[in-house]
Amino acid sequence: MARVMIIGAGGVGSVVAHKCAQVPEVFTEIILASRTKSKCDKLAQEIKAKVPVSTYSVDADNVPQLTKLLKKTKPVLVINVALPYQDLHIMDACLEAGVNYLDTANYEPLDTAKFEYKWQWAYQARFQKAGLMALLGSGFDPGVTSVFTTYLQKHLVPTIKEIDIIDCNAGSHGLPFATNFSPEINIREITAKGRYWKKGKWMETAPLSVQKPFVMPDKLGKLNIFLLYHEELESLGKHIKGLEQARFWMSFGENYLKHLEVIRNIGMDRIDPVSFNGTQIVPIQFLAKMLPDPASLGPLTKGKTCIGVQASGKDAKGTEKVAFVYNVCDHQECYREVKSQAISYTTGVPAMIGAMLMLTGQWKGQGVFNMEQFDPDPFMAALSQHGLPWKVLKKRVFTSPIQ
Ligand code: NDP
Repeated sequence: MARVMIIGAGGVGSVVAHKCAQVPEVFTEIILASRTKSKCDKLAQEIKAKVPVSTYSVDADNVPQLTKLLKKTKPVLVINVALPYQDLHIMDACLEAGVNYLDTANYEPLDTAKFEYKWQWAYQARFQKAGLMALLGSGFDPGVTSVFTTYLQKHLVPTIKEIDIIDCNAGSHGLPFATNFSPEINIREITAKGRYWKKGKWMETAPLSVQKPFVMPDKLGKLNIFLLYHEELESLGKHIKGLEQARFWMSFGENYLKHLEVIRNIGMDRIDPVSFNGTQIVPIQFLAKMLPDPASLGPLTKGKTCIGVQASGKDAKGTEKVAFVYNVCDHQECYREVKSQAISYTTGVPAMIGAMLMLTGQWKGQGVFNMEQFDPDPFMAALSQHGLPWKVLKKRVFTSPIQ
């Protein structure tokens, strides 16, 4: 039925490849492309696909080179799981070659630690004119968190006033310091100012300055969660009518925070080039090279993640409603299935599902779309079927320290 190209062979790319190979009736041919071809070759061996798999080296920042590869291999869809810096270049190449597009993280310029949808939303007219579809942010957060929100709106809280997205990782890899996904992107995200969306305006807080303990469901224990800016706050603010407040919270362990503080204090999180022995180096990129590869954490990580959305508002009769939808994912079970920890797994599975819904026409359109613009039901059904089952609690699980 469909030939897809997966760009990026890191932690997330590996899960996407495994999961696409599990659905051969939809993904009838898989092309793996990344900067380093040997990673694609290794992955091709690992996934044991029943469908043809080919591998290529490509620099996705080189638009003519990627366009040439797309024209030669003719996929109907590119699943972009390289880094956010590549988003616009891959979208450009898709437009040149007439290929649909999906990603899991919004564009971020290399020289500014800032992510916003404005750059990708600006492609709306070009994708529409070309009769192509681009689905933005089909990971877990962003991604499933938007689908959880529209599910809550459709079935439980018809007029949503407030949402709190809560991302907890109760797992541990046992290493002094490592990030669960791309170290550079992770550190840029966490060290940015906190921001939340309130009545159409952004409210700013100092980095990691607002925190609260959160008792996770399913007896998973208690963790401290911190207010962060996250990209889906922007698209949910735009698309969920009547929404008054949207916030995002993430858990961090003391060890992680201790290392992060030192990294910041000594300037290793700097994203501007520094002259060293006659060479220009970017401290955060050098640091990322020294840290463990997220893809190597799979066998080490134990414990569970718990990510969910709490929505509060009213039903059609004006009665107050509040509910929490969440997924719990076990790091070791993920490793047994696809040789990756749960952070890559919870991102890669929704990327495969978004692609599947596009290819089967269950989610369709021309232009650039966010996840909350589509019917959540087929996505929710697919989550349960493909390894990320979810549950609903019809009660308040979290009260924020700020209002
Ligand atoms: P990794 O760093 O593990 O892998 C990134 C991959 O992209 C590598 O294989 C790398 O190349 C490849 N790559 C980088 N630059 C280029 C380029 N110019 N051309 C071609 N390939 C390139 O990252 P992750 O797998 O952890 O993350 C992948 C994406 O998923 C990121 O955008 C991240 O932000 C996003 N993400 C989204 C989440 C969500 O819930 N929505 C959660 C976690 C991550 P090489 O072949 O040299 O290794």
